[in-house]
Amino acid sequence: MVVYQGKGVYGAVAIGKVSVFKRQAAAVRRVSIEDTAAEIARVEAAKALAVEQLSAIHDKALKEVGEANAEIFEIHIMMLDDEDYNDSITSIIETQKVNAEYAVAATSDNFSEMFANMDDAYMQARAADVKDISNRLIACLTDSGSGTESSDEKMIVCADDLAPSETVSLDKDKVLAFVTAFGSSNSHTAILARNMNIPAVIGVGEDFLNSIADGDMMIVDGHTGEVFVSPDDETMKRLSAKQEDDARKKKLLQDLKGKENVTLDGTKVKIYANIGGVGGIGAVLANDAGGIGLFRSEFLYLESEDYPTEEQQFNAYRKVLESMSGKKVVIRTLDIGADKQIDYFRLDKEDNPALGFRAIRICLTRPEIFRTQLRALYRASAFGELGIMFPMITSVSEVEKCLAMCGEVKKELDDAGIRYNDKTEVGIMIETPAAAVISDKLAPLVDFFSVGTNDLTQYTLACDRQNAKLESFVDTHHEAVLRLIEMSAKNAHANNAWIGICGELAADLTLTEAFLRMGIDELSVSPPFVLPLREKVRSIDLNK
Ligand code: PEP
Ligand code: MG
Repeated sequence: MVVYQGKGVYGAVAIGKVSVFKRQAAAVRRVSIEDTAAEIARVEAAKALAVEQLSAIHDKALKEVGEANAEIFEIHIMMLDDEDYNDSITSIIETQKVNAEYAVAATSDNFSEMFANMDDAYMQARAADVKDISNRLIACLTDSGSGTESSDEKMIVCADDLAPSETVSLDKDKVLAFVTAFGSSNSHTAILARNMNIPAVIGVGEDFLNSIADGDMMIVDGHTGEVFVSPDDETMKRLSAKQEDDARKKKLLQDLKGKENVTLDGTKVKIYANIGGVGGIGAVLANDAGGIGLFRSEFLYLESEDYPTEEQQFNAYRKVLESMSGKKVVIRTLDIGADKQIDYFRLDKEDNPALGFRAIRICLTRPEIFRTQLRALYRASAFGELGIMFPMITSVSEVEKCLAMCGEVKKELDDAGIRYNDKTEVGIMIETPAAAVISDKLAPLVDFFSVGTNDLTQYTLACDRQNAKLESFVDTHHEAVLRLIEMSAKNAHANNAWIGICGELAADLTLTEAFLRMGIDELSVSPPFVLPLREKVRSIDLNK
């Protein structure tokens, strides 16, 4: 047995035989030609064919993975029409007097290298898109195809990498899973895999393809990112049990998917999901969450070696919003300090970090960081249904300063003619006792509250959430915490604001009824808790 470790992009287990993806890359030879006009005409004809193919793939993707994910193929169609890309092909044909295939391949190399060398991870990932459209164009010029051997058995498709169009073109009924030697979790391919509900592991390393052959037995564990080639009996038994467990959970998921979050007496509640990065979107969609109630934006900063630029942030936020196709996405502004330390922020060591320089306190003290994030957020707001949320609020003046900064950023965007959604909701976390107690003063300033029960419990009970010794002193159902939540709910509603809970307590099924009786409008939980929570909500009768 050989074990490879990659990155699981869709959590499920697949057991089956290997099918090595064969890409019949058209061998591109450099051929000297005389009639450059005829070669340019061949490129035009191939482009028309490529557009036809991409439109068909777009329609297939639209049905299988939704509008936001199908959009990439519209982008590919636009890229094929890109002026610089086309000028490069024409100029290579005319100046070097070479065949169309060679000119497309050379252009592909130049453009993909240019993207790969960019600083921005999102732009780097676009190198794969240029190669993808160029390979299609070359295939259209030479009339060659690609794919897996046709067989009736479902197989685990293994490839060096898969382009988005190749991923969508795979016949889903014949694919058990896919594994790629390369690939980034930022790529559209990874996003598509998540949304196609196919177990997938990417980036297992370049040795991988040398050690497998068609028909080899393989297990793919999309939860852990492990790939077992020729698994031994013990591994087979263990992973089969995991697969059965997945199937049981999936059954629960299938039964409840698409159903409303409504109690027996007809009270509706929103169930959203919490994520820490773009990589979490697949789980949100797979678990049928109605939106994202907490996107912990600080993970973008934690995963980075330096302050993420406005562009990097914009791309991440835009991707989340687009992937959620118009469903609500609440992005919390930077919440570092306390347990989340980042070297490049160079924060002083503090005796009481949880009570120290963290979250909104950092943003209000270092407005350049705050402004960059707010600009990225407002720019992204044009691509979906965004809510912006501020953490660790304790006073009216903090909220006023945040709103003033939002106003400045919107004015800058207006002046620069940059589009954003002026109706973007702005809210605050209720995670300090101070915020809950003055929630009557805070509610008129905002559109929503979201209760951070993790911090609210720590501050109300004076128990450091990081200190394991205090476990027995932390009563997560403490009346003081529940009263603060109830008080915040009343004050939110009295001021036409909505209120959600995004701390871990939102997933505590023994409190769901109490929260609904308080009038909580939204509960945001880790994706695997969405459906169990839906089941719970549907069993409650508030008239009893
Ligand atoms: C909370 O405090 O409850 C919360 C949701 O935020 P975090 O856990 O990120 O502090
Ligand atoms: Mg918190």
